[in-house]
Amino acid sequence: MNAAKFKALAVAMLLAGSHHALSAEPAARWWKGNTHTHTWWSDGDTPPELVAKWYKEHDYQFLVLTDHNIMQAGTEWYPIDDTRRSVTQIQQAYDEYVRTYGTNWVETRTVAGNREVKLKTLDEFRALFEEAGSFIFIKGEEITDSFHTHSIHMNGVNLAEFSAPAGGSSVANTIQRNVDAVVAQGERTGQPMFIHLNHPNFQYAETAEDFMQVDSAAGDGFFEMYNGHSGVNNYGDALHESSERMWDIVLAKRLGELNLEVFYGLAVDDAHEYTVWGLGEVNPGRGWLMVKSQWLTPNKITEAIKRGDFYNSTGVTLRSLEISDAGITLDIEAQAGVEYRVEFVGTLKDADLTPKTAPAPEHMHAETTDHLHDTITSYSADVGRVLSESSGTHAEYKVRGDELYVRARIISTKLHPNPFAAGDVEMAWTQPLVVKQAAK
Ligand SMILES: [Zn+2]
Ligand SMILES: [Zn+2]
Repeated sequence: MNAAKFKALAVAMLLAGSHHALSAEPAARWWKGNTHTHTWWSDGDTPPELVAKWYKEHDYQFLVLTDHNIMQAGTEWYPIDDTRRSVTQIQQAYDEYVRTYGTNWVETRTVAGNREVKLKTLDEFRALFEEAGSFIFIKGEEITDSFHTHSIHMNGVNLAEFSAPAGGSSVANTIQRNVDAVVAQGERTGQPMFIHLNHPNFQYAETAEDFMQVDSAAGDGFFEMYNGHSGVNNYGDALHESSERMWDIVLAKRLGELNLEVFYGLAVDDAHEYTVWGLGEVNPGRGWLMVKSQWLTPNKITEAIKRGDFYNSTGVTLRSLEISDAGITLDIEAQAGVEYRVEFVGTLKDADLTPKTAPAPEHMHAETTDHLHDTITSYSADVGRVLSESSGTHAEYKVRGDELYVRARIISTKLHPNPFAAGDVEMAWTQPLVVKQAAK
């Protein structure tokens, strides 16, 4: 283009006004994705390409492969005849791998009579799957840390580089130090990223008290309020809060007492098994995020999650969701023959937030050697109670002003096709609306 033509075009654009110049601006829409998945790079039973293929074929638009303390990079050979692993599943996955991609793609070698497969790095295989506006990978890792006998697993999402387990002087301190490491990496690289605490009830490793105080200038306060792994005790037991109730305890304490920011809850798969299916197996497709963003790119999806522009689902899809200072309004994508109940859950400003502690039963002391969880802490039923509920596909909550926060839980009558636990119905959960403090 010559200078005169360029000038004419520039003037035309100027005359058209800035909103016309931005006419390519896409409308925000919902993108489905999962931030917790395992492959052969750690203890998943299937190579990453077949994992990605499963998610793409099931209409996910983004996927974070989060293997334990490794990103899908470097040179790794995976022993498919290793008897320490569940060999039948591994060999089944290997057969499927060769059937799907062929021997020109699958690289093998034999060491001391045992076959090994070279793991493809994310940079090697991502081009087989990624398509603008329909599927992307976001880099991640399950930072797999511990304190004494307590597993502390946290997923770094949209990491630019590997984040090593940071360690710490207590469960709470270990969580904080891993948050700090990812926040520092984000600041150093200029890339948006976040970290979420995983499955607090896995081996009953963390209580709400262990993570309610997580503090970060970058606002990183995220945990899994639902994890599809059959061994993670989402619903707690007589002595342990469910992970969903932990969310209410954490929100109430942070907003009502600790003067900290909102805390977001995520639903994830934590899938490990793609060769055996059903109740009790650790399968994909159980819990996911729906993220509202104009663009499907790693940074834009990450930024939207950091703003809280997402909801969680185990099967229920929302047609619309508006969360404003005035309240929450939502419409459910109705399915034939399915009924819906919407509960608006919250905690009022005058709720009793005092923890009540009781000695834990003797058998629990034996589980831990560090006496961290020798007491059981509980809270008033006013923490995270149903403030209003309705049935049907439309629901509204109008802020009254005396709430700390309110969030929506949508419960359908449809059984989950491959549930975390027997009898689970398909559900959805919005992120909390933090009610602004009235000027005093
Ligand atoms: Zn884990
Ligand atoms: Zn995991």
